[in-house]
Amino acid sequence: MTYKITLIPGDGTGPEITETVVNVLENTGVKFDWEIVNAGIDIMQKEGTPLPDNVLQSIKKNKIALKGPITTPIGTGFRSVNVAIRKELDLYACLRPCKIYKGVKSKFDAVDLIIVRENTEDLYAGVEFAQDSHEADTIIAHAQNKIRPHSAISIKPISAFGTERIVRYAFEYALKNNRKKVTAVAKANIMKYTDGLFYETARKVAKDYENKISYEERLVDNMCMQLVQKPQDYDVLVLPNLYGDILSDLCAGLVGGLGVAPGANIGDNYAVFEASHGSAPKYKGLNKVNPVAMILSAKLMLEHIGEKEAAQRLEKAVAEVIAQQKHTTYDLGGNAGTKEIGQAIIDKLK
Ligand code: NAD
Repeated sequence: MTYKITLIPGDGTGPEITETVVNVLENTGVKFDWEIVNAGIDIMQKEGTPLPDNVLQSIKKNKIALKGPITTPIGTGFRSVNVAIRKELDLYACLRPCKIYKGVKSKFDAVDLIIVRENTEDLYAGVEFAQDSHEADTIIAHAQNKIRPHSAISIKPISAFGTERIVRYAFEYALKNNRKKVTAVAKANIMKYTDGLFYETARKVAKDYENKISYEERLVDNMCMQLVQKPQDYDVLVLPNLYGDILSDLCAGLVGGLGVAPGANIGDNYAVFEASHGSAPKYKGLNKVNPVAMILSAKLMLEHIGEKEAAQRLEKAVAEVIAQQKHTTYDLGGNAGTKEIGQAIIDKLK
């Protein structure tokens, strides 16, 4: 069987990472028919938009995409392409596995946790009102002196619908992947309505999994401390969008950095697989950055399309190359380039 997959190389270091990842994937024995479409700052110069229509059309047609990182241009009026893709395709679950591979420099020996981040709501919804705008002034007038005059305002929407489906996703993931515990993370002692609703809804969902998966709650500030002290105590974490974003990077730091932190954005109809990291533009064209995060994202893609055996072989090859420390990139303490570590992984696959 040949899998037709949308391939978005991205910008900055995205295209060079993507080229290596495709070479690695073509050596797994799985057959791919890539439909390459471009998004990001390079195509913006040509087409006037960083997200041309054919990108979303291609993902809607093929259902699955593998994506390189894309820069969010600051001050151009364009919101993040990454956020736009997630919203347009309702990719509500952001999956970020954080696992220590032998050979990676870390203060811990055994971290193996999964972050499940809600991807469509919260402060990421993009509902913001500028200082002195009519909307901001209206809200300030209704806020009974709780908001200082001339403030800019961001809105934080959290719904029972959005929370229910992300928490259910986390429990289902835990069941399917032999995980034991789901921890819901929020700050409901302060944000009683939004984060309060998150906990209230999560508790209801947790009841459906009683006796199968255990459930607990942590306040996000306490969670940060716990993660840097005893990450081995955690299994699956489920969080609203912004806390999920921040804790994803924190956990990437626990397991060796952004170069080894994969990710997936999954909805009921479509899925887009991409590393946690951004386009690292300062390293563009230098054959320097680590492709492992995107390779491990591709491993998640293989699992998603049902190629579990190929996914396992790919992860094993990556783990061996990291453990041997002969062909690792700068972030893992070596001096191999993007292509060289890719080739070392291909050699292990052969
Ligand atoms: P970044 O992740 O691009 O880079 C931060 C630093 O992390 C880099 O300078 C580098 O030192 C290190 N790093 C990142 N990826 C690495 C890799 N594969 N190997 C080795 N080291 C790596 O973060 P940033 O500089 O904040 O963002 C750059 C751009 O990327 C911004 O425009 C941002 O909006 C965008 N971004 C995109 C995505 C995405 O496409 N999903 C995610 C995050 C950020």
